[in-house]
Amino acid sequence: MQQSIPTIPHSASGLDLHLSALAAVDAGSAPFLSCFLDARQGEAACRDFLTDRYLELADGIPAAQRALLDEAMVMADAAFAHHWPSGVQTVAVFARPGCDERFLQVLPLVDAIPAQVDWYRLPRLLPLMEAAATRARFTMLLGRQGAMYVVDVTDGRAETRAWASPRRTGPAKGQGPDPQTIALRRALLEQSALPLVVAAAAADVDDLVGWLPSRSRARFVERVEVPDYLDFNRAVRFVIEDFQDRRRLEEQLEVSRLIRASRDHGMAVLGPLACTEALRGGAVETLVLARGVSFPRVRYCQRCGAQDAWASGAVPCVECGEATPMPLDFANEIAYLAKRRRADIVFSDAEELRYLGGVGCLLPQSAEASAMPLPTPRRHGLDLVA
Ligand SMILES: [Zn+2]
Repeated sequence: MQQSIPTIPHSASGLDLHLSALAAVDAGSAPFLSCFLDARQGEAACRDFLTDRYLELADGIPAAQRALLDEAMVMADAAFAHHWPSGVQTVAVFARPGCDERFLQVLPLVDAIPAQVDWYRLPRLLPLMEAAATRARFTMLLGRQGAMYVVDVTDGRAETRAWASPRRTGPAKGQGPDPQTIALRRALLEQSALPLVVAAAAADVDDLVGWLPSRSRARFVERVEVPDYLDFNRAVRFVIEDFQDRRRLEEQLEVSRLIRASRDHGMAVLGPLACTEALRGGAVETLVLARGVSFPRVRYCQRCGAQDAWASGAVPCVECGEATPMPLDFANEIAYLAKRRRADIVFSDAEELRYLGGVGCLLPQSAEASAMPLPTPRRHGLDLVA
């Protein structure tokens, strides 16, 4: 059985690696049970929640799937036998039953994700992707009261990894750099995955940017002027808030870029159908998805893949007569495809994006011809990816 080690995916690359691994899993004959459980409520409450949701799910699925769901529940339940490290807010469990396709992944997360349980052909990646996009994670080089600090910010928490006092930041004549400065440089060069922010009083910040070791410059994303009167802790908080403000602004800029591009020469596509087709074609630079979006309900047939408008009650598949087509989770399908295609993914709260259908794809400038999505025969709807 595949079993993850219950360490907290703190780092930017850690959660991203898990996401990529989950997106690499092909759909199989059995669906996934995806659980996001509120670890702060305690194990007993999580079990109760899981049981309640199980009863609801078992009611709504074809009888032939009940045994599979039961098996997935046993797998998820066994995952609780682990002791979760402190600081975990959400435990995510992805379980797919079956002999050949058996899959179990447990992720203790420091992110607060709304509790939910889902039974679907693919792992439910969307909440994980939103959490990853929301995390404030960067390294800051902070100049404060003459000293320099390297501080890692992960999920809003700051950890000082090295510091050097003022007189030591440059080598004295005839000497090499002192141990503090070496440690500072090493700390800057180690955390290679995180973006780097340089922050200091207005008069010092450019000097500090100039001091950056050359190998760390590729990670440098922003200089922040921090008011002189703020002490160390308040300065760190100031830089974190500045970073988050800047990210919200970047999200807004992506939405503006999307709107402009959709008017100019078809360099963007809008809406769930067009985006799915563009992603299937592989020519998408950035996916922009509205947070918490819900798309018109569509159902798909697990036997033949046909899609049509959602019909409540027992309306069989129009193509093959399969008794109970399942609801298609468009948002998750799109997010999964984008991850699989290694497109950049931006979540946005912008109202304009909702008016435009809740999702859009920016196509690469250099690939206009190949980026035009190919028409898919409407009768069979979209082929699902996997
Ligand atoms: Zn069918």
